[in-house]
Amino acid sequence: MRSEPVVQVQSLVKRYGTKTAVDGLDLAARQGVTAVLGPNGAGKTTTVEICEGYRRPDSGTVRVLGLDPVRESAALRPRVGVMLQSGGVYAGARADEMLRHVAKLHARPLDVDALIERLGLGSCGRTSYRRLSGGQQQRLALAMAVVGRPELVFLDEPTAGLDPQARHATWDLVRDLRDDGVSVVLTTHHMDEAEQLA
Ligand code: ATP
Repeated sequence: MRSEPVVQVQSLVKRYGTKTAVDGLDLAARQGVTAVLGPNGAGKTTTVEICEGYRRPDSGTVRVLGLDPVRESAALRPRVGVMLQSGGVYAGARADEMLRHVAKLHARPLDVDALIERLGLGSCGRTSYRRLSGGQQQRLALAMAVVGRPELVFLDEPTAGLDPQARHATWDLVRDLRDDGVSVVLTTHHMDEAEQLA
């Protein structure tokens, strides 16, 4: 736990027009699981998206695994897994097809069938993304974030809207990632989730 931070954010500012969404945030996430808590609109997603390199900060510095997420995105991308709140999946693609596709983009992916089983997606593998339930879509997004064996995973509200069983399966997966030495930064509204995992 005394290692260098895997994510280091200093004096981060992000504005959307006249609205300041993130106002001078400092954040250090070390190896293990870090939970980012805050009410709706606090700027969690904005912060995470900046760390993922999808948004540019107005000021401040962000380092992820020691790298700049915008300038050094090519070096960072194979090492970082991302679960967005929504999007990132072709609506017409089947769940298993989508996961296999993402797995093929990585050098040493996890076993896709085992992951599908693990997350209880077995029964919906042949269903197109747009026909999956909200919870199934969440689980597929989680699977896509971890299938490439990343060193660091960003999970934006990974258990929002999940049933208790799926929630516990997600927690187990996060614990396994942690035990495998993968760092996890997750946003959540659930104090119990933060207490259990982080
Ligand atoms: P939640 O818990 O509801 O997911 P959050 O903490 O993730 O919220 P953000 O989504 O980062 O918060 O939003 C922070 C603020 O920035 C909000 O007031 C939101 O309305 C605003 N905002 C977010 N994205 C945009 C955008 N693309 N354009 C304009 N304003 C935005």
